[in-house]
Amino acid sequence: MCAPQDPALNSESPNPIPDWKDQIPIPLLVLRLADKGLVFLNRSARELFGDVAKPGVDASVLFDDPNALLRLLESLQFDEKAIRSEAFLKSVSNAHHWHSIEASAAEMDGERVAVLSMIDTVKCIPNPREAEFRSNIALWRGVFDQAAVGIALLDKDLRFIEVNRRWLDMFGYSAEEMGALSPSNLTPVEDCSGSCGRIDALLMSEVDQYRVGRRLVRKDGSLFWGDLSVSILRDGEGAVSVILAFLIDITDRKLAEDKLQASNERLEAQLAENRVLQEKLRDLAVRDPLTALFNRRYMEETLRRELSRSAREDQPLSLVMIDIDHFKQLNDTYGHPAGDLVLKELAALLLRHLRSEDIVCRFGGEEFVAILPGAPLTTAAQRAESWRLAFQELRIEYEDQVLTGTLSMGIAEYPRHGATGEDLLFQADSAMYMAKRAGRNRVMVWG
Ligand code: GH3
Ligand code: MG
Ligand code: MG
Repeated sequence: MCAPQDPALNSESPNPIPDWKDQIPIPLLVLRLADKGLVFLNRSARELFGDVAKPGVDASVLFDDPNALLRLLESLQFDEKAIRSEAFLKSVSNAHHWHSIEASAAEMDGERVAVLSMIDTVKCIPNPREAEFRSNIALWRGVFDQAAVGIALLDKDLRFIEVNRRWLDMFGYSAEEMGALSPSNLTPVEDCSGSCGRIDALLMSEVDQYRVGRRLVRKDGSLFWGDLSVSILRDGEGAVSVILAFLIDITDRKLAEDKLQASNERLEAQLAENRVLQEKLRDLAVRDPLTALFNRRYMEETLRRELSRSAREDQPLSLVMIDIDHFKQLNDTYGHPAGDLVLKELAALLLRHLRSEDIVCRFGGEEFVAILPGAPLTTAAQRAESWRLAFQELRIEYEDQVLTGTLSMGIAEYPRHGATGEDLLFQADSAMYMAKRAGRNRVMVWG
């Protein structure tokens, strides 16, 4: 030690043979376990502590943190073996050094005593910053241990070097047990691939940190949700020195979120169902139930819209009124269901012959209307003629009968025959009656 020489060595001693304990260059203390009273200090210890350290004095005064001694002595009560610990000691030089302390219990003059030897870990180098450094470490140690978040330090081989109390509490392991585990032991097997991939990316320097919400598994096998932030600390050469993980238990939040999501999904499903229902209702409102063609109301709306478009684009539009000839007779001969079948077959035929821009509707009874946007009169007449021929050829099987029919059609054209839907419908209808009067089964053009 570099402390001043022991004055005892220079004094006249009645005993020329120095005590062997004083020859030990390591500070030695003997104190009573019952009251921590000092019984003996060797020369090195006297040099280290100075006058405060006298037999009979409570040994706690030599420790920066009196509880450190208390903890040490408590451990000795239960352990026969020597115990190693570390503490700040108050040296006479006022340089509070961190000491490694070895303690063992013994019997002396019928009393239980503790024998303490102490080694200065910084060996006598007075460093004014050391105390500050050590107290910083103590401060951070306190922060680490008392943090409300779980903190873990891992080495590059993903072994736990250090974990704090909260981390252990979350998983239910002791510090020793955690030391024998790796992160994969804390992750449900089915989630393992994702988590390993992310740590690999971290080690390969692809990323410096990541944050993830993840399921984790406790010692008892139960699962909880954690918000995990992992970052990597590198040395000057860029090599991994430590991996730092912060963990917050977010199970409650996650459960609340899941509940909310489930109720959102239920709501979404309900809305989708409502949309389908609304769609069906809208369809019912615009379609004829027998033929599934658009109904008259829809036709009138569409005709208005198409006419204003034709006006805007300066395009013609033709309207074809279609009526089955002698349909009443067919009903009377074969029955109403036979008539229904013919109506459906005609609807299907018209749909087959339509172009994408055309619209066909059941106008009512056995009358149909086709709107042909962009088609001039001649084109409409040609197309109507082809429908007439196709229907005339159609053989409809009903029970053991074959039904046939013919069509009479009248055509009016925008803008030649009228500007409004009402005018055009009236004129197409008039043309259709002209066809009836002319002998049926024909196409007539207005005018
Ligand atoms: P025309 O050649 O002059 O058009 O004679 P028609 O018999 O076809 O015309 P009319 O207007 O005299 O008769 C139409 C018939 O259409 C009368 C009605 O019972 C029938 N009808 C109307 N709607 C339906 C329906 O949905 N199903 C069936 N089967 N018949 C219908
Ligand atoms: Mg009719
Ligand atoms: Mg008819």
